[in-house]
Amino acid sequence: MKIVSDIREMQQLAGHYRQQGKTIGFVPTMGYLHEGHLSLMRRARPQCDILVVSIFVNPTQFGPNEDFERYPRDFDRDERLCREVGVDVVFYPTADAMYPQPYLTYVHVEKLSETMCGASRPGHFRGVTTVVTKLFNIVQPHIAVFGQKDYQQSLIIRQMVRDLNFDVQIDVAPIVREVDGLAMSSRNKYLSSEERQQALVLYRSLTRAEELIREGERNVDTLLQAMKTVISEAPDARIDYIAIVDAETLEPLSTVRHNTVIALAVYIGTTRLIDNTWIREKDGKLVGQLVSPRQ
Ligand code: AMP
Repeated sequence: MKIVSDIREMQQLAGHYRQQGKTIGFVPTMGYLHEGHLSLMRRARPQCDILVVSIFVNPTQFGPNEDFERYPRDFDRDERLCREVGVDVVFYPTADAMYPQPYLTYVHVEKLSETMCGASRPGHFRGVTTVVTKLFNIVQPHIAVFGQKDYQQSLIIRQMVRDLNFDVQIDVAPIVREVDGLAMSSRNKYLSSEERQQALVLYRSLTRAEELIREGERNVDTLLQAMKTVISEAPDARIDYIAIVDAETLEPLSTVRHNTVIALAVYIGTTRLIDNTWIREKDGKLVGQLVSPRQ
């Protein structure tokens, strides 16, 4: 496994693989890897000849009062995990190399970047789309795998790829959860053991919404109220947003129907966590991804 920090070297290496007719698969991450990240790598592995993983805590996607400085980092462990999964190249650039001064160019996807996480974290998606554009130009992947955990992000990336004619296939992988349902996240490390228990309200509120939908509830206000009730059981939880939206446009809905996404961001103490589920019609019934349908 190669570890490449130099941007030029990564670009030349990618060009060389392409010349040899090899397919490049790519998984961008901010490191501090967990099973969620590894699932993306395992999913990409059989779809490519050369698997590249980037580890880069991207400063431009953090707001001034966010956790850029304290974001967890452990390169040695990440390197070992990448090796175990069969990664070919770890791209590990510095922030100075990615954003040499003066840095003046950003990519912005309108509309989709402005709601939900975009409304709470101004500039966040501009940072994401900018870094993903740069990484695509450097790694030159044929296919890139993202996680549904960041549903809005995956939609914005798909839109950007379409709008800017990137020749990259975007694959989105399911959310990997802890055994009790908490979506895996590098930020879970911030939680005290008491908060870790309370963090389950995200999963529980989504599960509750799915149950109600399975029982026939379609009214969004009723579902939102039920989710809020579940979340209020955690004394240190503060809702940032709950969104019940069209899965393609992210427009708010008043009635749940095929292709609805229920997404939420909740602070547990000072840690902001996100989660979501996708409601689709199967065999004439609306089903989510969390609660398995009764036989
Ligand atoms: P991050 O390092 O948090 O920026 O995440 C890098 C990639 O891993 C993104 O595409 C995320 O959506 C994905 N990811 C993060 N957590 C999970 C998870 N629990 N399950 C699946 N994918 C995830």
